[in-house]
Amino acid sequence: MDYKILVNKDNTLDKSYIPDDLVDALSSYRDGILINKLVLKQFNLMREDAKKLGYNIDIMSGYRDYMYQEAIYNKLLKEKGFAYTFRSIAKPGTSEHQTGLAIDICIYKGDKCYIEHEVEDSEEINWLINNSHKYGFILRYPKNMEDRTGYNYEPWHYRYVGDIAEYLYKNNLLLEDYFSS
Ligand SMILES: [Zn+2]
Repeated sequence: MDYKILVNKDNTLDKSYIPDDLVDALSSYRDGILINKLVLKQFNLMREDAKKLGYNIDIMSGYRDYMYQEAIYNKLLKEKGFAYTFRSIAKPGTSEHQTGLAIDICIYKGDKCYIEHEVEDSEEINWLINNSHKYGFILRYPKNMEDRTGYNYEPWHYRYVGDIAEYLYKNNLLLEDYFSS
């Protein structure tokens, strides 16, 4: 498994691409979320450390196959139109979620789980932004990088990249920069 794989609007995955090593994330948010085995191991380490600070994080979305991505893309397209959809969700074949290496993180406060824009500016997210690299993750769609990533700020979306995470974080680089340097 290549943990540095680049998937974006220009670097696409085949419809038939299904990653190896998918396991059940055992998320309390939803049953049946699959992610890469090593990604789960690293997420669990991060979650344990978050817990020590009183933060309760979990995975609300992991691996999505091509057909599923196609379904949610078409649904949003119908509801919100192309301009909104283009910056908000990946077209099928261009989603990192198809690699099994990307996770969307939700935050529990008591029994309530907060997702997507609800988690913005929370203590938990600030901690993840500045510490997830220690576990091999990067914030994939940072603030003020919309023109370069092609996506709106997504404080909940983290991508496992392995040992280059620290380098990218410390130099404020996108995964794209790693491939163009
Ligand atoms: Zn995501």
